Amino acid sequence: MFPARFRYEAPHSLEEAIGLLRDGGDYVKVLAGGQSLVPMMKLRFASPDMLGDINGLPGLAYHRADPDGTLRIGALCRHSDLERSELLQGTQPTMAAAAPLVADPLVRNRGTLVGSLCHADPQGDWASVMLALGGSVIAQGSNGRRAIPLADFVTGPFQNVLEHDEIAVEAVVPAAKGARAGGYLKLERRVGDFATVGTAVAIETSGGTVTRAGIALTGVGGSTIGCPEAAAALTGKPLSAQTIAEAAELAAAAAQPRTDHRGSAEYKRQMVRVFVKRILGGNLPSTTGQTAERAA
Ligand SMILES: Cc1cc2nc3c(=O)[nH]c(=O)nc-3n(C[C@H](O)[C@H](O)[C@H](O)COP(=O)(O)OP(=O)(O)OC[C@H]3O[C@@H](n4cnc5c(N)ncnc54)[C@H](O)[C@@H]3O)c2cc1C
Repeated sequence: MFPARFRYEAPHSLEEAIGLLRDGGDYVKVLAGGQSLVPMMKLRFASPDMLGDINGLPGLAYHRADPDGTLRIGALCRHSDLERSELLQGTQPTMAAAAPLVADPLVRNRGTLVGSLCHADPQGDWASVMLALGGSVIAQGSNGRRAIPLADFVTGPFQNVLEHDEIAVEAVVPAAKGARAGGYLKLERRVGDFATVGTAVAIETSGGTVTRAGIALTGVGGSTIGCPEAAAALTGKPLSAQTIAEAAELAAAAAQPRTDHRGSAEYKRQMVRVFVKRILGGNLPSTTGQTAERAA
């Protein structure tokens, strides 16, 4: 199918792009990698009056760490940049594990992490990774710049809190206070598919104690699911078989899977349990390990 008729604009500066969104009509959309928006338009699930293509905006195709370790990912940083990133491989085990599991190489060459967060697909891999890491989105609009914690950014399936004239310019992962560990595991029907079940785990440890934990789930509910109770079961304690089992149980309980052609609800819940144990078990007692495998 072909998209409905739309106006196309390619601004050259962020200010121009924000102005276009503000003044461009009732239904304007930012175009980043186009890997979710264009299929939606072709299927006529989305028929914006105007697209503001941000690909020509300077200075947004980066990912870098501040001196204190805060990670910043610009709006035009592609999935493939993250997949090949030595910075991620050295410092961000959960992100490094997820990056090669997002879609397929063609999609990864164009799609962006920030676009994925904005798209807010319950089956999007990056939202659960960023939620587990305590990440946030930096939005810029006519009224200035603001930071939005990921926990508040996604409000439901395909919904976020951005204002009409706001562009998500950056995603941010806070600096770790201890040694970072974790991973991302994804059950998919075939390589390149969306997650039947995805599980992101991010922990920080200091002196053998877990000082911060985040667990979040992909594809097992109407939205990305954070698991604060599961994370709390790990925090302030040494990582042990018992705390891991407890966290796995609480994460499985937080899942809201539905039985469908990909599997029964109970099977999906069990996979969450297995993934949490597998990721954290792989990090026992190491603090830098990563888990980057596709689950068959
Ligand atoms: C065949 C296929 C398989 C896929 N498999 C997976 C998968 O396994 N896992 C997965 O996570 N994703 C998957 N995707 C989706 C892919 O990751 C997309 O790249 C991503 O969801 C959207 O990023 P994008 O840059 O392409 O955004 P776009 O498609 O350009 O935009 C998506 C939405 O976000 C908005 N948006 C984008 N950037 C901004 C911004 N900076 N500020 C404000 N709004 C913005 C757009 O207006 C639009 O509403 C798949 C896509 C395809 C086509």
